[in-house]
Amino acid sequence: MSRIVYVNGEFLAEEDAKISVFDRGFLFSDGVYEVSSVIRGKLIDNERHLARLARSLGELNIKAPGTDEEIIAIQKEVVARNNLDEGMLYLQVTRGAADRTFLQPKDIEPSMVMFTQELCIINCPDTDIGISIKTIPDIRWQRRDIKTVSLLAQSMAKQAANDAGANDAWMVEDGFVTEGSSNNAYIVTDDNTIVTRNISNSILSGITRRAVLELARQNNMKIEERPFTPEEAENAMEAFSTAATHPVMPIVKVNDRILSNGKPGPIAAKLVDLYRKMALESIGEAD
Ligand code: PMP
Repeated sequence: MSRIVYVNGEFLAEEDAKISVFDRGFLFSDGVYEVSSVIRGKLIDNERHLARLARSLGELNIKAPGTDEEIIAIQKEVVARNNLDEGMLYLQVTRGAADRTFLQPKDIEPSMVMFTQELCIINCPDTDIGISIKTIPDIRWQRRDIKTVSLLAQSMAKQAANDAGANDAWMVEDGFVTEGSSNNAYIVTDDNTIVTRNISNSILSGITRRAVLELARQNNMKIEERPFTPEEAENAMEAFSTAATHPVMPIVKVNDRILSNGKPGPIAAKLVDLYRKMALESIGEAD
């Protein structure tokens, strides 16, 4: 079934939507994006996604496409027009269209595009089973704190992991895990401490990371924010990843090592539960 997408002021059937060949997102990856999850037709943690969008735009000197209120109204309209119950709302802003030049044109209008995609966000079968990951060299640029649409290195990493029989890739730089191909990475050590890399330009500051660490703190779980090595991950009690589209994803295999007897560990499983409850409460729904 054809979706209704949003492109620069218009809601259109996906086959009628057009973006300029000269759009700098297309020519230079000169754009940023956000993915907010949708549960029971409601956007989850969306204010924080919009705050990160504003930061990404600011770091690249791209004009904001509107106020937060205007953007939220369009997001809700796209969700409603597609009758989306559960899935994601994708939002992309690029610097806009201009004759091709490496300089960044100052007086052009940004392009904004939004679309929805159905996905399982809570109560998903793969969360009960867990996934496998493979560590892959991190070949990305040095501003991973900006959520740019330049995702080729992540796509290559995920494909390489997949080709090697794993579900996802964790990227490694200078001997330490940075993050997953499209998620933040965590291990649990043998004294039940959750370890995840500290925020810096080396990783994206995940919105789900923040929510999950808040939940872990509220529930008196131990947290250490520091880089960890692939060897630590292979020998961890548990591992998991977080992202808006897979809030907490248990990991049961790292490279050739099986973790927690091949089943989601208790801490990951607890966080899956806590996140689901928190997300449902935030939209006034019962678990
Ligand atoms: N790191 C990377 C590289 C990502 O692409 C993502 C998801 N887009 C994340 C982390 C997780 O961010 P969030 O929790 O905000 O979805």
